[in-house]
Amino acid sequence: MTIADVRRLAAGMALHPREFVYLKEGKEEDNSDFRFKPGGPLYDLHLLHRPVTKGCVFLMEIAPGKARCGAYVHRPIVCATFPASLAQGSVGIREKTLCGGPDSWNLATMDLPAYRRDIARNRAAWSEHLRMAREWNARVDASTRPATEEQLYDFILAAETSEDAEQADRSAPASS
Ligand code: SF4
Repeated sequence: MTIADVRRLAAGMALHPREFVYLKEGKEEDNSDFRFKPGGPLYDLHLLHRPVTKGCVFLMEIAPGKARCGAYVHRPIVCATFPASLAQGSVGIREKTLCGGPDSWNLATMDLPAYRRDIARNRAAWSEHLRMAREWNARVDASTRPATEEQLYDFILAAETSEDAEQADRSAPASS
């Protein structure tokens, strides 16, 4: 998940990130991750899972065997783009998915322009996320005291992403 995803979910669902995010130790070479002490291990942001069902914290059972995303309009962009990917300018189905395989989806029935738009948004959000993760890690490396998860959440909640700027533009009254 990106910083923009966390901010959108926190604002849209009126939740603190600690209520839906957990930090998991990630791959050393992944510079999208956050550290808490100089040279320390790196952690990335994940959606919490419910302890009993193991399902996403936002998955709501609406009837036996039927579930819906309870955060739909605010869901992470990676959820909005699932199961699509963009290769050489064309929207296709990802080769490897945890839910079904390429034959489980029908491109002819998918809103391909919406997928293309969301994949582009996700790429932009990741490049912004990488820049902010570098900024956080540089602060941690320059400090003599370890940082805490709460400080990371404060940093994320105080960040300003291009999605926030677009939202502000949409909310601004039109000039005459
Ligand atoms: S789409 Fe699924 S995984 Fe994504 S936020 Fe909603 S319930 Fe969670």
